[in-house]
Amino acid sequence: MSTVTGLTCRSCGRSYPAEPLSICDDCFGPLEVVYDYDAIKRVLSREVIAARGPSMWRYRELLPLDGPPRVGLEAGFTPLLRAHRLGAALGLRRLFIKDDSVSRPSLSFKDRVVAVSLSKALEFGFDTVGCASTGNLANSVAAHAARAGLRAYIFIPADLERAKIIGTTIYGAQVVGIRGNYDDVNRLCSEIADRYHWALVNVNLRPYYAEGSKTFGFEIAEQLGWRAPDAIVVPMAGGALLTKIHKGLKELERIGLIPPCATRLYGAQASGCNPITAAVKNHQSRIQPVKPHTIAKSLAIGNPADGLLAAQAIRESGGWSEEATDEEIRQGIALLSETEGVFAETAGGVTVAVTRKLVAQGLIGPDDLTVIAVTGNGLKTAEVCQINEPRSIDAKLIQFEETFRPERRSTVYAKSAHPSTAQEVHC
Ligand SMILES: [Zn+2]
Repeated sequence: MSTVTGLTCRSCGRSYPAEPLSICDDCFGPLEVVYDYDAIKRVLSREVIAARGPSMWRYRELLPLDGPPRVGLEAGFTPLLRAHRLGAALGLRRLFIKDDSVSRPSLSFKDRVVAVSLSKALEFGFDTVGCASTGNLANSVAAHAARAGLRAYIFIPADLERAKIIGTTIYGAQVVGIRGNYDDVNRLCSEIADRYHWALVNVNLRPYYAEGSKTFGFEIAEQLGWRAPDAIVVPMAGGALLTKIHKGLKELERIGLIPPCATRLYGAQASGCNPITAAVKNHQSRIQPVKPHTIAKSLAIGNPADGLLAAQAIRESGGWSEEATDEEIRQGIALLSETEGVFAETAGGVTVAVTRKLVAQGLIGPDDLTVIAVTGNGLKTAEVCQINEPRSIDAKLIQFEETFRPERRSTVYAKSAHPSTAQEVHC
Protein backbone atom coordinates (compact mmCIF):
# COMPACT_ATOMS: atom_id res chain seq x y z
CA MET A 1 0.00 0.00 0.00
CA SER A 2 1.30 3.44 -0.86
CA THR A 3 2.37 5.87 1.83
CA VAL A 4 2.43 8.73 -0.71
CA THR A 5 -0.24 11.41 -0.33
CA GLY A 6 0.66 13.39 -3.46
CA LEU A 7 3.12 15.90 -4.86
CA THR A 8 3.76 19.44 -3.71
CA CYS A 9 5.55 22.40 -5.31
CA ARG A 10 8.78 23.23 -3.47
CA SER A 11 8.41 26.89 -4.43
CA CYS A 12 4.74 27.85 -3.99
CA GLY A 13 3.32 24.87 -2.08
CA ARG A 14 0.56 23.96 -4.56
CA SER A 15 -0.57 20.34 -4.25
CA TYR A 16 -0.78 17.83 -7.09
CA PRO A 17 -1.90 14.19 -7.32
CA ALA A 18 0.82 11.52 -7.58
CA GLU A 19 0.99 11.49 -11.38
CA PRO A 20 3.83 11.70 -13.92
CA LEU A 21 4.46 15.40 -13.29
CA SER A 22 7.65 17.20 -12.43
CA ILE A 23 7.10 20.96 -12.67
CA CYS A 24 4.51 23.26 -11.07
CA ASP A 25 2.04 24.72 -13.60
CA ASP A 26 1.86 27.99 -11.67
CA CYS A 27 5.46 28.84 -10.90
CA PHE A 28 7.59 26.18 -12.70
CA GLY A 29 8.99 25.12 -9.31
CA PRO A 30 10.13 21.51 -8.79
CA LEU A 31 7.58 19.04 -7.43
CA GLU A 32 8.33 16.89 -4.41
CA VAL A 33 6.79 13.61 -3.18
CA VAL A 34 4.80 13.95 0.08
CA TYR A 35 4.30 11.03 2.47
CA ASP A 36 2.02 10.19 5.37
CA TYR A 37 4.74 9.98 8.02
CA ASP A 38 2.31 9.01 10.81
CA ALA A 39 1.32 5.94 8.80
CA ILE A 40 4.98 5.13 8.08
CA LYS A 41 5.89 5.49 11.75
CA ARG A 42 3.24 2.94 12.70
CA VAL A 43 4.69 0.22 10.45
CA LEU A 44 8.40 0.94 10.05
CA SER A 45 10.85 0.18 12.87
CA ARG A 46 14.54 -0.73 13.09
CA GLU A 47 13.50 -4.34 13.70
CA VAL A 48 11.25 -4.47 10.63
CA ILE A 49 14.05 -3.06 8.49
CA ALA A 50 16.68 -5.42 9.95
CA ALA A 51 14.50 -8.43 9.08
CA ARG A 52 14.42 -7.46 5.40
CA GLY A 53 16.91 -8.28 2.65
CA PRO A 54 20.10 -6.27 2.01
CA SER A 55 18.80 -3.87 -0.63
CA MET A 56 17.50 -0.30 -0.71
CA TRP A 57 13.95 -1.70 -0.62
CA ARG A 58 14.31 -2.40 3.10
CA TYR A 59 13.10 1.24 3.44
CA ARG A 60 10.27 0.74 0.97
CA GLU A 61 7.65 2.70 2.94
CA LEU A 62 9.82 5.80 2.44
CA LEU A 63 9.90 5.32 -1.34
CA PRO A 64 7.15 6.44 -3.75
CA LEU A 65 5.75 3.18 -5.12
CA ASP A 66 2.16 1.96 -4.86
CA GLY A 67 3.11 -1.72 -4.95
CA PRO A 68 6.21 -3.91 -4.71
CA PRO A 69 9.25 -2.85 -6.78
CA ARG A 70 9.45 -4.44 -10.22
CA VAL A 71 12.88 -3.28 -11.39
CA GLY A 72 16.24 -3.17 -9.60
CA LEU A 73 15.25 -5.47 -6.78
CA GLU A 74 18.87 -5.92 -5.70
CA ALA A 75 19.93 -2.25 -5.82
CA GLY A 76 21.53 -0.52 -2.87
CA PHE A 77 22.91 -1.59 0.49
CA THR A 78 26.48 -0.99 -0.63
CA PRO A 79 29.34 -1.15 1.89
CA LEU A 80 30.15 1.59 4.38
CA LEU A 81 33.92 1.23 4.70
CA ARG A 82 35.94 2.37 7.69
CA ALA A 83 38.74 4.39 6.05
CA HIS A 84 41.71 4.29 8.45
CA ARG A 85 44.45 4.98 5.95
CA LEU A 86 42.68 7.69 3.97
CA GLY A 87 41.63 9.20 7.30
CA ALA A 88 45.27 9.31 8.43
CA ALA A 89 46.23 11.03 5.16
CA LEU A 90 43.47 13.61 5.50
CA GLY A 91 43.73 14.13 9.26
CA LEU A 92 40.38 12.53 10.12
CA ARG A 93 40.20 9.93 12.89
CA ARG A 94 36.66 8.74 12.21
CA LEU A 95 36.30 8.58 8.44
CA PHE A 96 34.01 6.29 6.44
CA ILE A 97 33.44 5.80 2.72
CA LYS A 98 29.95 5.04 1.46
CA ASP A 99 30.99 3.00 -1.54
CA ASP A 100 28.54 3.01 -4.45
CA SER A 101 31.37 2.23 -6.88
CA VAL A 102 30.26 -1.38 -6.37
CA SER A 103 26.53 -0.75 -6.82
CA ARG A 104 24.55 -3.39 -8.72
CA PRO A 105 24.14 -3.59 -11.69
CA SER A 106 25.92 -0.58 -13.19
CA LEU A 107 28.52 0.49 -10.61
CA SER A 108 27.15 3.87 -9.59
CA PHE A 109 24.59 5.36 -7.19
CA LYS A 110 22.29 5.92 -10.16
CA ASP A 111 21.11 2.32 -9.74
CA ARG A 112 19.12 3.61 -6.75
CA VAL A 113 17.21 6.29 -8.63
CA VAL A 114 16.67 4.08 -11.66
CA ALA A 115 15.28 1.21 -9.56
CA VAL A 116 12.66 3.59 -8.19
CA SER A 117 11.87 5.49 -11.38
CA LEU A 118 11.56 2.47 -13.68
CA SER A 119 9.38 0.66 -11.12
CA LYS A 120 7.25 3.81 -11.05
CA ALA A 121 7.24 4.00 -14.86
CA LEU A 122 5.78 0.47 -14.96
CA GLU A 123 3.13 1.45 -12.40
CA PHE A 124 2.20 4.40 -14.62
CA GLY A 125 1.98 2.09 -17.65
CA PHE A 126 4.93 3.41 -19.70
CA ASP A 127 6.53 0.97 -22.15
CA THR A 128 9.40 3.20 -23.27
CA VAL A 129 11.91 4.77 -20.90
CA GLY A 130 14.96 6.96 -21.18
CA CYS A 131 17.01 9.72 -19.65
CA ALA A 132 19.30 12.67 -20.22
CA SER A 133 22.63 11.64 -18.79
CA THR A 134 26.26 12.51 -18.17
CA GLY A 135 27.02 8.77 -18.24
CA ASN A 136 26.23 6.91 -15.03
CA LEU A 137 22.48 7.34 -15.42
CA ALA A 138 22.75 6.20 -19.04
CA ASN A 139 24.50 3.01 -17.92
CA SER A 140 21.91 2.31 -15.26
CA VAL A 141 18.77 3.03 -17.28
CA ALA A 142 20.06 0.90 -20.16
CA ALA A 143 20.93 -2.02 -17.86
CA HIS A 144 17.67 -1.95 -15.92
CA ALA A 145 15.58 -1.49 -19.09
CA ALA A 146 17.23 -4.55 -20.63
CA ARG A 147 16.37 -6.69 -17.62
CA ALA A 148 12.80 -5.38 -17.47
CA GLY A 149 12.25 -5.72 -21.23
CA LEU A 150 11.54 -2.02 -21.70
CA ARG A 151 12.43 0.01 -24.80
CA ALA A 152 15.05 2.62 -23.92
CA TYR A 153 16.22 5.87 -25.51
CA ILE A 154 19.30 7.27 -23.86
CA PHE A 155 20.43 10.84 -24.56
CA ILE A 156 24.05 11.75 -23.79
CA PRO A 157 26.62 14.35 -24.80
CA ALA A 158 28.47 12.80 -27.76
CA ASP A 159 31.91 13.34 -26.17
CA LEU A 160 31.38 11.16 -23.07
CA GLU A 161 34.08 8.82 -21.79
CA ARG A 162 34.35 5.74 -24.03
CA ALA A 163 33.63 3.28 -21.19
CA LYS A 164 30.37 5.06 -20.40
CA ILE A 165 29.27 4.89 -24.02
CA ILE A 166 30.12 1.19 -24.27
CA GLY A 167 28.50 0.59 -20.88
CA THR A 168 25.24 1.92 -22.31
CA THR A 169 25.13 0.60 -25.88
CA ILE A 170 26.03 -2.93 -24.76
CA TYR A 171 22.54 -3.32 -23.27
CA GLY A 172 20.85 -2.75 -26.60
CA ALA A 173 19.42 0.68 -25.84
CA GLN A 174 18.99 3.34 -28.51
CA VAL A 175 21.80 5.73 -27.61
CA VAL A 176 21.53 9.26 -28.95
CA GLY A 177 24.76 11.24 -28.85
CA ILE A 178 24.07 14.96 -28.86
CA ARG A 179 26.62 17.41 -30.18
CA GLY A 180 26.51 19.68 -27.14
CA ASN A 181 26.84 19.58 -23.37
CA TYR A 182 24.50 18.02 -20.80
CA ASP A 183 22.39 21.15 -20.57
CA ASP A 184 21.71 20.93 -24.33
CA VAL A 185 20.82 17.24 -23.92
CA ASN A 186 18.45 18.05 -21.08
CA ARG A 187 16.70 20.76 -23.06
CA LEU A 188 16.01 18.40 -25.95
CA CYS A 189 14.75 15.74 -23.53
CA SER A 190 12.19 18.14 -22.08
CA GLU A 191 10.82 18.68 -25.60
CA ILE A 192 10.77 14.93 -26.29
CA ALA A 193 9.01 14.20 -23.00
CA ASP A 194 6.30 16.70 -23.98
CA ARG A 195 5.81 15.15 -27.43
CA TYR A 196 6.11 11.40 -26.72
CA HIS A 197 4.52 9.33 -23.99
CA TRP A 198 7.89 8.17 -22.67
CA ALA A 199 9.20 8.00 -19.13
CA LEU A 200 12.37 10.09 -19.26
CA VAL A 201 13.25 9.33 -15.68
CA ASN A 202 15.09 12.49 -14.69
CA VAL A 203 12.76 14.72 -16.68
CA ASN A 204 9.04 13.89 -16.38
CA LEU A 205 9.47 11.35 -13.54
CA ARG A 206 12.02 13.44 -11.68
CA PRO A 207 10.14 13.74 -8.33
CA TYR A 208 9.95 9.91 -8.05
CA TYR A 209 13.38 9.31 -9.51
CA ALA A 210 15.17 11.61 -7.08
CA GLU A 211 13.58 9.90 -4.05
CA GLY A 212 15.79 6.86 -4.68
CA SER A 213 18.80 8.91 -3.57
CA LYS A 214 17.42 9.10 -0.03
CA THR A 215 18.42 5.48 0.45
CA PHE A 216 22.10 6.52 0.26
CA GLY A 217 21.49 8.48 3.47
CA PHE A 218 19.25 5.83 5.07
CA GLU A 219 21.98 3.24 4.65
CA ILE A 220 24.69 5.49 6.10
CA ALA A 221 22.57 6.00 9.24
CA GLU A 222 21.70 2.31 9.60
CA GLN A 223 25.26 1.13 8.93
CA LEU A 224 26.58 3.54 11.59
CA GLY A 225 24.26 1.85 14.09
CA TRP A 226 21.24 4.10 13.56
CA ARG A 227 22.84 7.46 13.99
CA ALA A 228 23.71 10.25 11.61
CA PRO A 229 27.34 11.33 11.10
CA ASP A 230 28.65 14.81 11.94
CA ALA A 231 29.57 15.50 8.31
CA ILE A 232 28.90 14.05 4.86
CA VAL A 233 30.80 15.18 1.77
CA VAL A 234 28.80 14.69 -1.43
CA PRO A 235 29.69 15.34 -5.08
CA MET A 236 27.19 17.57 -6.85
CA ALA A 237 26.06 17.53 -10.48
CA GLY A 238 22.33 18.33 -10.57
CA GLY A 239 22.38 18.61 -6.77
CA ALA A 240 19.69 15.99 -6.09
CA LEU A 241 21.85 13.48 -4.19
CA LEU A 242 22.88 15.96 -1.52
CA THR A 243 19.35 17.35 -1.27
CA LYS A 244 17.88 13.88 -0.85
CA ILE A 245 20.44 12.70 1.71
CA HIS A 246 19.38 15.73 3.74
CA LYS A 247 15.69 14.88 3.28
CA GLY A 248 16.31 11.22 4.11
CA LEU A 249 18.06 11.96 7.40
CA LYS A 250 15.28 14.35 8.41
CA GLU A 251 12.72 11.63 7.63
CA LEU A 252 14.54 9.07 9.80
CA GLU A 253 14.56 11.63 12.58
CA ARG A 254 10.88 12.40 12.11
CA ILE A 255 9.76 8.78 12.33
CA GLY A 256 12.03 8.14 15.31
CA LEU A 257 14.58 5.78 13.71
CA ILE A 258 17.54 8.02 14.63
CA PRO A 259 17.98 10.62 17.38
CA PRO A 260 17.80 14.28 16.37
CA CYS A 261 20.83 14.91 14.19
CA ALA A 262 22.90 17.91 13.19
CA THR A 263 24.68 16.46 10.17
CA ARG A 264 26.53 19.10 8.19
CA LEU A 265 26.32 18.54 4.46
CA TYR A 266 29.28 19.54 2.32
CA GLY A 267 29.02 19.83 -1.45
CA ALA A 268 31.87 19.00 -3.81
CA GLN A 269 32.19 20.27 -7.37
CA ALA A 270 34.86 20.58 -10.02
CA SER A 271 36.36 24.05 -10.51
CA GLY A 272 35.41 23.70 -14.17
CA CYS A 273 31.73 23.36 -13.30
CA ASN A 274 30.95 24.95 -9.95
CA PRO A 275 27.57 26.73 -10.11
CA ILE A 276 26.28 25.39 -6.77
CA THR A 277 29.57 25.89 -4.94
CA ALA A 278 29.76 29.46 -6.25
CA ALA A 279 26.23 30.17 -5.02
CA VAL A 280 27.10 28.86 -1.54
CA LYS A 281 30.42 30.69 -1.33
CA ASN A 282 29.02 33.98 -2.58
CA HIS A 283 25.82 33.71 -0.52
CA GLN A 284 23.71 34.01 -3.67
CA SER A 285 20.01 33.16 -3.70
CA ARG A 286 20.19 32.19 -7.40
CA ILE A 287 22.25 29.70 -9.35
CA GLN A 288 24.30 31.34 -12.08
CA PRO A 289 24.63 28.72 -14.88
CA VAL A 290 28.15 28.01 -16.18
CA LYS A 291 29.60 26.36 -19.27
CA PRO A 292 31.31 23.19 -17.99
CA HIS A 293 34.93 22.40 -18.71
CA THR A 294 36.24 19.62 -16.49
CA ILE A 295 37.47 16.02 -16.57
CA ALA A 296 34.69 15.24 -14.07
CA LYS A 297 32.14 14.74 -16.83
CA SER A 298 29.63 13.03 -14.56
CA LEU A 299 29.42 16.32 -12.63
CA ALA A 300 29.41 18.56 -15.71
CA ILE A 301 25.95 20.08 -15.36
CA GLY A 302 26.17 23.83 -15.83
CA ASN A 303 22.53 24.54 -15.01
CA PRO A 304 21.72 22.13 -12.16
CA ALA A 305 18.04 21.23 -11.74
CA ASP A 306 18.27 20.97 -7.95
CA GLY A 307 21.10 23.45 -7.50
CA LEU A 308 19.10 25.89 -5.44
CA LEU A 309 17.69 23.15 -3.21
CA ALA A 310 21.19 21.74 -2.70
CA ALA A 311 22.54 25.17 -1.74
CA GLN A 312 19.65 25.59 0.71
CA ALA A 313 20.27 22.15 2.26
CA ILE A 314 23.97 22.99 2.66
CA ARG A 315 23.17 26.28 4.38
CA GLU A 316 20.41 24.83 6.58
CA SER A 317 22.68 22.05 7.75
CA GLY A 318 25.56 24.40 8.62
CA GLY A 319 27.76 22.93 5.88
CA TRP A 320 29.77 24.47 3.07
CA SER A 321 30.86 23.76 -0.48
CA GLU A 322 34.26 23.56 -2.16
CA GLU A 323 35.73 22.75 -5.55
CA ALA A 324 38.69 20.90 -7.05
CA THR A 325 40.82 21.49 -10.14
CA ASP A 326 41.42 18.72 -12.69
CA GLU A 327 44.86 18.07 -11.22
CA GLU A 328 43.45 17.88 -7.69
CA ILE A 329 40.78 15.47 -8.97
CA ARG A 330 43.45 13.14 -10.37
CA GLN A 331 45.36 13.33 -7.09
CA GLY A 332 42.15 12.57 -5.18
CA ILE A 333 41.49 9.45 -7.26
CA ALA A 334 45.05 8.25 -6.69
CA LEU A 335 44.99 8.93 -2.94
CA LEU A 336 41.72 7.03 -2.48
CA SER A 337 43.01 4.11 -4.52
CA GLU A 338 46.40 3.91 -2.80
CA THR A 339 45.06 4.25 0.73
CA GLU A 340 41.82 2.29 0.61
CA GLY A 341 41.82 0.13 -2.51
CA VAL A 342 38.77 1.96 -3.81
CA PHE A 343 38.99 3.04 -7.45
CA ALA A 344 36.50 5.85 -7.89
CA GLU A 345 35.51 7.72 -10.98
CA THR A 346 36.33 11.41 -11.34
CA ALA A 347 33.48 12.45 -9.02
CA GLY A 348 35.18 10.48 -6.23
CA GLY A 349 38.40 12.35 -6.90
CA VAL A 350 36.48 15.61 -6.54
CA THR A 351 35.05 14.45 -3.21
CA VAL A 352 38.40 13.41 -1.75
CA ALA A 353 40.11 16.61 -2.92
CA VAL A 354 37.32 18.75 -1.48
CA THR A 355 37.39 16.85 1.82
CA ARG A 356 41.09 17.66 2.12
CA LYS A 357 40.31 21.38 1.65
CA LEU A 358 37.46 21.33 4.16
CA VAL A 359 39.76 19.76 6.77
CA ALA A 360 42.50 22.31 6.00
CA GLN A 361 39.97 25.11 6.48
CA GLY A 362 38.94 23.68 9.85
CA LEU A 363 35.37 23.13 8.69
CA ILE A 364 35.61 19.38 9.34
CA GLY A 365 37.43 18.59 12.58
CA PRO A 366 39.74 15.61 13.20
CA ASP A 367 37.23 13.91 15.49
CA ASP A 368 34.12 14.58 13.41
CA LEU A 369 32.39 11.36 12.37
CA THR A 370 32.70 11.94 8.64
CA VAL A 371 31.35 10.05 5.62
CA ILE A 372 32.46 10.71 2.07
CA ALA A 373 30.24 9.67 -0.80
CA VAL A 374 31.88 7.61 -3.55
CA THR A 375 29.23 7.50 -6.24
CA GLY A 376 30.78 5.72 -9.22
CA ASN A 377 33.47 3.30 -10.37
CA GLY A 378 36.88 4.37 -11.65
CA LEU A 379 36.94 1.88 -14.52
CA LYS A 380 34.36 4.11 -16.21
CA THR A 381 36.69 7.10 -16.36
CA ALA A 382 40.06 5.33 -16.39
CA GLU A 383 41.24 7.42 -19.34
CA VAL A 384 41.84 10.46 -17.11
CA CYS A 385 44.27 8.62 -14.82
CA GLN A 386 47.98 9.13 -15.26
CA ILE A 387 49.79 5.94 -14.28
CA ASN A 388 53.34 4.63 -14.33
CA GLU A 389 53.31 2.20 -17.24
CA PRO A 390 54.31 -1.32 -16.14
CA ARG A 391 57.91 -2.20 -17.03
CA SER A 392 57.95 -5.20 -19.39
CA ILE A 393 60.52 -7.98 -19.22
CA ASP A 394 60.99 -11.44 -20.69
CA ALA A 395 59.81 -14.28 -18.47
CA LYS A 396 63.28 -14.71 -16.97
CA LEU A 397 64.14 -14.52 -13.27
CA ILE A 398 67.39 -12.69 -13.96
CA GLN A 399 65.58 -9.95 -15.86
CA PHE A 400 63.06 -9.57 -13.07
CA GLU A 401 65.81 -9.18 -10.48
CA GLU A 402 67.90 -6.81 -12.57
CA THR A 403 64.94 -4.64 -13.43
CA PHE A 404 63.10 -4.52 -10.11
CA ARG A 405 65.90 -5.32 -7.61
CA PRO A 406 63.49 -6.82 -5.07
CA GLU A 407 64.53 -7.42 -1.47
CA ARG A 408 65.33 -11.10 -1.01
CA ARG A 409 63.37 -11.58 2.17
CA SER A 410 59.85 -10.38 2.41
CA THR A 411 59.36 -7.59 4.88
CA VAL A 412 57.56 -8.58 8.06
CA TYR A 413 54.23 -6.85 8.07
CA ALA A 414 54.45 -4.11 10.66
CA LYS A 415 51.48 -3.64 12.90
CA SER A 416 51.80 0.09 12.38
CA ALA A 417 50.74 -0.44 8.77
CA HIS A 418 47.20 -0.31 10.08
CA PRO A 419 47.54 2.06 13.00
CA SER A 420 44.01 2.65 14.10
CA THR A 421 42.41 -0.77 13.72
CA ALA A 422 41.81 -1.03 17.42
CA GLN A 423 40.27 2.38 17.76
CA GLU A 424 36.56 2.04 17.51
CA VAL A 425 34.17 4.79 16.67
CA HIS A 426 32.91 6.66 19.69
CA CYS A 427 29.95 8.92 19.27
ZN1 LIG B 1 4.59 26.27 -7.69
